[in-house]
Amino acid sequence: MSQIFHYDLIIIGGGRASGLAIAAAKAGKKVALIEKDLLGGTCPNRGCVPSKLLLGYAEAAQRVREAGLHHIEASINEIDVAQVFKETNEWSSQVDSRYESRLPDNVTLYRGAGSFRDDHTVEVNGELLSAGQIVIATGARPRPAPYPELPVWTSEDLFPLKGSVPSSITIVGGGFIATELAHFFSAVGIKTTLLVRGERLLPGEDAEISQIFTEEFSKKVSVRLKTSIVDAGYDGSQFTMGLNDGSTHQSEALLYAIGRIPNTDHIGLEKTGIETDQGGFIKRDSRLQTKIPGVYAIGDVAGKYQLQHAAGFEVHYLRQILLKGHDEDFNEGAMPHAVFTNPEIASVGLTEEEAQQQGLPYVAVTEDWLASARAMSTKLTYPRTKLIIRRETFEILGCHLIGPEASTMIHQILMLMHLKNDIREIPKMIHIHPALPEALLAAAVKAINQIKSQSFS
Ligand SMILES: Cc1cc2nc3c(=O)[nH]c(=O)nc-3n(C[C@H](O)[C@H](O)[C@H](O)COP(=O)(O)OP(=O)(O)OC[C@H]3O[C@@H](n4cnc5c(N)ncnc54)[C@H](O)[C@@H]3O)c2cc1C
Repeated sequence: MSQIFHYDLIIIGGGRASGLAIAAAKAGKKVALIEKDLLGGTCPNRGCVPSKLLLGYAEAAQRVREAGLHHIEASINEIDVAQVFKETNEWSSQVDSRYESRLPDNVTLYRGAGSFRDDHTVEVNGELLSAGQIVIATGARPRPAPYPELPVWTSEDLFPLKGSVPSSITIVGGGFIATELAHFFSAVGIKTTLLVRGERLLPGEDAEISQIFTEEFSKKVSVRLKTSIVDAGYDGSQFTMGLNDGSTHQSEALLYAIGRIPNTDHIGLEKTGIETDQGGFIKRDSRLQTKIPGVYAIGDVAGKYQLQHAAGFEVHYLRQILLKGHDEDFNEGAMPHAVFTNPEIASVGLTEEEAQQQGLPYVAVTEDWLASARAMSTKLTYPRTKLIIRRETFEILGCHLIGPEASTMIHQILMLMHLKNDIREIPKMIHIHPALPEALLAAAVKAINQIKSQSFS
C-alpha cells in the first residue's frame, strides 16, 4: 500500500489560491500546493494581465487614429505587432518563478495534476496526500471551438502567441474576452472581424449600455451580428468559413472566445460526495464549502463571477475562516466588473432589466457626460452614466458607465456603496471642477430630483 503524506491543508490549483497557501504556511500550517501548469494561474499568465498589457498598445494606436477629431493630421506608419507580443510575453514568462520564489518552506509544491481518491485524499504524480482541509481552485479553461481538427485559437494561444502574427483574424464571441481581443487586433491594424450570434455585443450588460457599446464598437471593428459559422476549413494558410447567411468569409487566423468551462471533469470528483451544477461548476454553501465538510471551492471553478478580484475576495474570506477562526457567512457585497475596450465599460449591481424582473421600486436615469469639460474635451458624444436607484431609500441598486476611464470612475460609486449606500451623499461631496467625475455628480442629482418629484406628485 502507498504511503500517504499528511498535511493540514491541500490546495489544488496554484492560481489565485496560491496566496492562501502562503498565508496558511505563515500561520504555521503544513501545506501542499498542487499545480499542473504555471503558478499564478490564468490571470497573470494568459488572462487579465497580458490581455491588458496588449490594450496599452491598442490605446496608443487609437489615439493617433482619433487625432482628426482634434484637427490633428496624423497617421500610423507601422506597428511592430510581433514586438508587442514579445514584450507582453516576456513579462508573463517570469510569473511562475516569481510565484515559486514567494512560497515559504512549509509549503510543499507538487508540480502535477491533482485528482481526488476520496473525500480527503488527493493523488498527484502517483503520491497520495491527505488533509482535513482541502481547497479546490482549479479554475476554468476556454470552451473549445467545434472544429478540433483545425488550428483554431482560443485566448490561451495568444499568451505566448502560437505562430506568427496574422494579417487578418476572425473572432467568434460577443463577451468581454472576444471584444477586448477584437479591439486590440483591430487597433493595431490587423484586419479583424467579430462574429456574434446574438443581436448585440456584451449581452450581460444593461441593455441601454450594451446598445450604445454595439453601435460605437461597430464603427471601429467590423462586427457581424446574428452571424455564426456553419462550416470551416483550413488550407494551411487561410481559414474559409461558411456563414449562416450563405456567405463565405476568409481570414488567416480564427479565434473562438465563446465562454469558459470549469476544470472539474478531470479531478476525480466522482470519487467524492462533492456535487456540481449543470454547467459542471462546483456547488458550495454560504461558507464556500462543498458537500464535504472541510473541502472548499474558490474562484472560477465555482463559476459565480469568473473574475480575478472575485476569486481574490474569496481567498481573503477563506483566510479569515480557516486561519483566523472567523465564523460568518460569505458576503461579497456588490461585485463590479469592467470591459477594457474602446468604448470602456464599468458596471456594478443590477441592470435595469434585473431591477424590473425583481419588481423593485426604482428610478433609472441616464445622463451624458457633458457636465464635465474634461469629458467634453475628448470630443466623444457617446459617454453615459446610468443609475438605478431604489425609490424609498435612495440606495444605489446599479451603476453602469460607458466612456473613457469608466473603470476608474466607478470606484467612487463602489466606495459609496461600501460605506453608506445613499446616492444623496454624492452632491454633499465637493467634486474637482471640471474633472470627469462631475459627470457622475450630474447623474446623481438627476436621479435624486426625479425621486423627489415622484414622491410629491
Ligand atoms: C483573456 C482573459 C482576460 C481576462 N481578463 C480579466 C480581467 O480583466 N479582470 C478580471 O477580473 N478577470 C479577468 N479574467 C478572468 C481571470 O483570469 C480569472 O477569473 C481568474 O484567473 C480566476 O482565478 P482562479 O484561481 O479561480 O483560476 P486560475 O487562475 O485559472 O487558476 C487555476 C489553476 O489551477 C490549475 N489546475 C487546473 N487543474 C488542476 C489539477 N487537476 N491539478 C493541479 N492544478 C490544476 C491550472 O493550471 C491553474 O493554474 C480574464 C480571463 C481571460 C482568459
